Amino acid sequence: MNNLERIEELRRTTKLPHEDMAALISTISDEEAKVLYKNAREVREKYYGKDVYLRGLIEFTNNCKNNCYYCGIRRGNEKAERYRLSLDDILACCKTGYEMGYRTFVLQGGEDPYFTDERMAEIVRAIKEKYPDCAITLSVGEKEKETYALWKEAGADRYLLRHETINPAHYSKLHPAELSIAHRVQCLYDLHDLGYQVGCGMMIGSPYQTIDNLVEDIEFMHGFQPEMAGIGPFIPHKDTPFRDQPAGTLKDTLHLLAILRLSMPQVLLPATTALGTIHPQGREMGLLAGANVIMPNLSPTGVRDKYMLYNGKICTDESASLCANCMERRVSSTGYQIKVSRGDCVKVSGN
Ligand code: SAH
Repeated sequence: MNNLERIEELRRTTKLPHEDMAALISTISDEEAKVLYKNAREVREKYYGKDVYLRGLIEFTNNCKNNCYYCGIRRGNEKAERYRLSLDDILACCKTGYEMGYRTFVLQGGEDPYFTDERMAEIVRAIKEKYPDCAITLSVGEKEKETYALWKEAGADRYLLRHETINPAHYSKLHPAELSIAHRVQCLYDLHDLGYQVGCGMMIGSPYQTIDNLVEDIEFMHGFQPEMAGIGPFIPHKDTPFRDQPAGTLKDTLHLLAILRLSMPQVLLPATTALGTIHPQGREMGLLAGANVIMPNLSPTGVRDKYMLYNGKICTDESASLCANCMERRVSSTGYQIKVSRGDCVKVSGN
């Protein structure tokens, strides 16, 4: 097969033999990439039309008990200025977001022991009581199934837990020994089992990542069938062990977005903040390569520059309302439009 045949086969069957997927990723030309993106847009428009869904991201704590080598809020980063939002702060973010048209709130944070299972459940209940028409997404790392069940019961709808890399040897180069891909994958299956809409995913161009690793990640996701796939370029942070590692590239990330769209036609695919960080129009290009979700920052301006997962993170000095205008402009520049809705995966909502 040549690359155009590979793209056609991928669109028709949602799969490619491992070697062909590896060859497509590593040899695709700029001209072929245009064909890939066009196919990705057609598939995304078949299921989601021109709609772009927004998720209001509330980064409610940058305290973390883990020490992932790539992450700026890792336990070992003594330079990170730590913060936590109170329940009132979080509800104020939701209020601002609701008025701006957000119908999904994503609570993301480090693995912070202060937020016990019961405290998190209280937060979820409080948001759900005030905003019953909104979806609540949690992204707070690896927990026991009982904990996930408690939060589901409290009203959580979705959970984001990137698998980071499915290859155990690669996983151990990105994380300390106490963390394992086996446990992370167990969490993903537990979440699905409990009825959560689940997001997994990986960084593109993370240190030591090979093309084979990326193909393995695609194959894992094709089997797991998440409702969302979150991918973005790795970007180094100056106070981590990976400070001198090169960032992932715009092109590789766009190729992967489009390939994931063709592999999982109905998946929700965010154009991430990291993509917007490596290129000023990165997110717009992501939308034109098959992405259909954007997750604008709803965190209070005072803490935004403290949730520094990587250097150069955008949108850390604006107020949330400025963000809304900017989103509107960016999305309409692509010919797509913001849709005020929970933005469920069509697999789940049956639309
Ligand atoms: N503690 C939660 C949330 C982690 S932050 C959890 O464990 O799921 C969300 C995502 O940011 C991570 O899953 C990781 O893929 C990404 N991330 C972290 N550091 C990064 C970096 N240096 N460059 C790009 N993405 C990064």
